[in-house]
Amino acid sequence: VALIEAQRSEERHHLTQKGAAPSTDAADGPLTAYLFERARAVRRQRYGDKVFIRGLIEISNRCRNDCLYCGIRRSNECAERYRLQPADIIACTDKGYELGFRTFVMQGGEDPFFTDEVLCPLIERIKANHPDCAITLSLGERTRESYQRLFDAGADRYLLRHETATDAHYRRLHPSELSLATRKACLSNLKEIGYQTGAGFMVGSPYQTVENLADDMLYLDELQPQMVGIGPFIPHRDTPFRDHAAGSVAQTLFFLGCLRLMLPASLLPATTAIGTLDPQGREKGMLAGANVVMPNLSPPENRGKYLLYNDKLATGCEAAEHLRELDRRFAAVGMRIAVDRGDFAG
Ligand code: SAM
Repeated sequence: VALIEAQRSEERHHLTQKGAAPSTDAADGPLTAYLFERARAVRRQRYGDKVFIRGLIEISNRCRNDCLYCGIRRSNECAERYRLQPADIIACTDKGYELGFRTFVMQGGEDPFFTDEVLCPLIERIKANHPDCAITLSLGERTRESYQRLFDAGADRYLLRHETATDAHYRRLHPSELSLATRKACLSNLKEIGYQTGAGFMVGSPYQTVENLADDMLYLDELQPQMVGIGPFIPHRDTPFRDHAAGSVAQTLFFLGCLRLMLPASLLPATTAIGTLDPQGREKGMLAGANVVMPNLSPPENRGKYLLYNDKLATGCEAAEHLRELDRRFAAVGMRIAVDRGDFAG
C-alpha cells in the first residue's frame, strides 16, 4: 500500500524490507487491480502506448555452468547442443531488420567459443550493417575488461539476471562455481562501463521465500538497473529441480506492477516464461506495466534446442515472423509495437 500511495503522490519511493515483505501478500488480493492501473499510468507517462520489440538470437546452448534450474546446464547430457557461427548470427540480424527489429539480443550459455576476439568483430559488423540498431548481450559473467571491450565494439545493453539477491538462496540454486558476490560485481561493472543494464530474478524458484523476494526488490532499488527481466521458474525434466513446482503467473505480474512503480522508466519485458505458462501471458504482462517483448529470431531449426525449461515457447506469437499477430493482440490492450531502438528514457 505504501509503495502504491507513494507513487500516487509522485514521490520517489525507497523500500525498506519491513515494508516490502508483506506487500507480496497482495498478489491475488483486491489491491492488485489498483496496482496495475497505477503501473499502466506510469508507463504511459514515460513511454506512451509503445511496446518495444527485441529480436532474440539464442547463439549457443553450450554452457560451462551448472545452475540447478537450467535446462542447458553442462551436466544435462540429454540437451542437443548447438552453436551459431558469426555468419548465421549476421543473417538473423539482417532478417530481423527487414521484419522491423531495431534491437538484437544475443543470448547464450557461457560458451568459451565466444571470446572477445569472436564477439568484437561480430558486433562491429552488425553495427556497420545496421547503424540505427541497438545490440544487447546476454552472455553471462565475464571480466570487466571483456565487458569494456564489447562495449567499445558497439554493444549498448547487457542482460544478466541476479537470479536471487539472498546469498543463502543463491547457493541453493548454484552450489558450484557461481557466487552472488561475483554476480553483483558484474552488474556494477556493467553499469559503470555505461551499458543499459538489466538484472532480474525468477519468481517461485525452489526454496524462495517472500523475504527473498523482498531482498530482490531492495537490491534492484539499490542497483537502479535500466531493464529488469522477471519470469516464473518453470521446471525442466532433465535437471535436479524437475520435481519442483513452477512459479505463479499472478505473483510474477504482481512484481511487474511493483517494478514499474519502483523503477518508473525501466524497460520491463513480458517474458517467454510468462507466455509459456499462460497463453494470454504477454497481454497480461502489458496490463501489469511491462513494455517490452523479445520474439525469437534464432534460426527456426535451433529454436527447439534452447530449452531452458519444459515446453518453452518457440513458435506462434513467440516467433519473430508473427509480429503482425502480436501487434493485433497488443492492440486489444491499448498498445502498439514500435519500430524503434527503444532505449531507456530515464
Ligand atoms: N548464460 C546467460 C546468463 O546466465 O545470464 C544467459 C542465458 S540464461 C539461460 C537466461 C536466463 O534463463 C537466466 O537468467 C534464468 O533466469 C532463466 N532460466 C533458466 N532456467 C530457467 C527455468 N527453469 N525457469 C525459468 N527461467 C529460467
